[in-house]
Amino acid sequence: MSRKKVIAGNWKMNKTPSETSIFITELSDRVKQTKDIVICAVPYVCLTAALKSAKRTKIKIAAQNLHFEDNGAFTGEVSTDMLTDLGVKYVIVGHSERRQYYNETDATVNKKILKALKAGLKPILCVGESLDQREMGVTSDFVRYQVRYALNGVSSEDMKNVIIAYEPIWAIGTGKTATNEQANDVCKTIRETLVELYGRRVANAALIQYGGSVNVKNANELFNMSDIDGGLVGGASLKIDDFDKIVNYNK
Ligand code: PEP
Repeated sequence: MSRKKVIAGNWKMNKTPSETSIFITELSDRVKQTKDIVICAVPYVCLTAALKSAKRTKIKIAAQNLHFEDNGAFTGEVSTDMLTDLGVKYVIVGHSERRQYYNETDATVNKKILKALKAGLKPILCVGESLDQREMGVTSDFVRYQVRYALNGVSSEDMKNVIIAYEPIWAIGTGKTATNEQANDVCKTIRETLVELYGRRVANAALIQYGGSVNVKNANELFNMSDIDGGLVGGASLKIDDFDKIVNYNK
């Protein structure tokens, strides 16, 4: 079946609001022809500038995290109401950097996925194994577990609004990309997990990205693999010429 591609830039802790406006305005000119979904996940303080510049363009704006409670004594955190009030439509959940540095667990990832969906936000759920896990041969089991845990309680209907990003931790920001086959194999495993959970129809429609050192040179081949529906791009999404080429990978 033919699925849309979704290409998302994860800016992490980069760019100021002023830089955001310039970048999104420039990018909007360069993505006019694309039929794919283009997303920029910007820092919280850049959301307003990003949303303003992205208005009436092809670019969608994502937050990089959310809290699973409605409100309260959670200094430094941001709720779904705050995001939806701004007009945000997408949110990254469970990025490996949050799992590694901010005690994000499978349980909190699950709570955040449920919260995002309840609020009408489309989560980009990140999963992926460490180098140790790959070398031990447990990649497939581990990723299946992460997906099952994160989606616990998510209905078939809600799966229309979930994007999954397979991001091997050893490939993030390291310049080491998974081979096309390695990336596709795990994306296929994720799809098979969705078959077990939701049946073939939902699984075939699900959007599953690859992320981990995607760049101008490897985007085309990766995005043309059978089970890879685009990419979650870190470093290369910060450079306008590179992200332009990645988004327009099929030209
Ligand atoms: C990411 O941050 O999700 C990512 C994949 O980073 P990079 O493309 O820099 O490896």
